[in-house]
Amino acid sequence: MSCDFLELAVPGVRGMSPYQPGKPIEELAREQGLKVEDIVKLASNENPLGPPPSAVKAMAESLAELARYPDGSSFLLKQTLAEKLKVSPEQLTMGNGSNDVLVLLAESFLDAGSSAVYSQYAFVVYPLAVKAVGAEGIAVPALNYGHDLDAMVEAIKENTRIVFLANPNNPTGTSFSEQALLGFLDRVPEDVIVVLDEAYYEYGVGGDLPDGIELLDRYPNLVVTRTFSKAYGLAGARVGYSISNPEVADVLNRLRQPFNLNLPAQFGAVAALQDDAYMQKSIEVNQQGMAFLEQGFSDLGLSWIPSSGNFITVDLRCNAMPVYEGLLSKGVIVRPVANYGMPEHLRISIGLPEENRRCLEALGQVLA
Ligand SMILES: *Cc1c(COP(=O)(O)O)cnc(C)c1O
Repeated sequence: MSCDFLELAVPGVRGMSPYQPGKPIEELAREQGLKVEDIVKLASNENPLGPPPSAVKAMAESLAELARYPDGSSFLLKQTLAEKLKVSPEQLTMGNGSNDVLVLLAESFLDAGSSAVYSQYAFVVYPLAVKAVGAEGIAVPALNYGHDLDAMVEAIKENTRIVFLANPNNPTGTSFSEQALLGFLDRVPEDVIVVLDEAYYEYGVGGDLPDGIELLDRYPNLVVTRTFSKAYGLAGARVGYSISNPEVADVLNRLRQPFNLNLPAQFGAVAALQDDAYMQKSIEVNQQGMAFLEQGFSDLGLSWIPSSGNFITVDLRCNAMPVYEGLLSKGVIVRPVANYGMPEHLRISIGLPEENRRCLEALGQVLA
């Protein structure tokens, strides 16, 4: 008889459910007997252009050095990032994806006696990170699927140490303005850390969304997180980071695993940062694809949540699972969001024009 290992796990971990990723292309190919090249995956908000060729080249060249440990301080990457963002390298904390930084924040500032506030429908990594350390997660009811910032301020308790904000949010695509953010930040106690997750920031450059980095001088309790997984096209390399005041960065860097960024990832990220043409193209493909999908949903009589990201969440007004399965059988992978309490929605990442067309065509057939 073996013992109940789940019972042996610490209480926070016992209460967690595993993260549900988008279905991998190879898995669907096996299940449905489809060819990998015939499958369209619009399920994980990945960049449909593929990785920046400049980054692939830099990563390939770095492989000759693989016997060595990577630079644990990510010196070159931090220098390059600091220059680009006009911050100092001491403000940066590098993560194995921004997920890693979100977990570092929870581990650094939360414990069983504290709580964290986030929105209903917010990115699922926040409750996971909070529960893992045994802290209480306070989910504040959403307003039109977005963050109700007033209600979130009011939900802050004596023992609250972190508020997580996603702008735009995943999986809803909702966003809030600079004015709303400032009104919020002015009301949050200074000993509560505000984590502003800007994973999709690059897609909105030049638009109405606030730039959290510009607010760091005014709000020492603000921590901005960003990633190379979305617009920079390097989800598989796992590179994310936070920008904060140096004292917060010092805390996070104490806990950070010394070699959390692997060697090729560091080289790839440096190259991607300098590839303005790739970024420009990514933004264009996204804007055009978003408009195309919106038109297609409208033609199908479907409504959707307006999105500031590289994905759009459509409201089917019926159980979305059969539609999801129907799309799978046609080789189109999208993302169910029932685990977010949205059983009638599907989240669809913006793809290349042909992928978007295939997705709409399949959706039309499945709904008919
Ligand atoms: C995709 C995403 C991330 C980034 O995850 P990585 O670990 O950097 O790949 C962070 N926050 C939100 C809201 C996301 O959608």
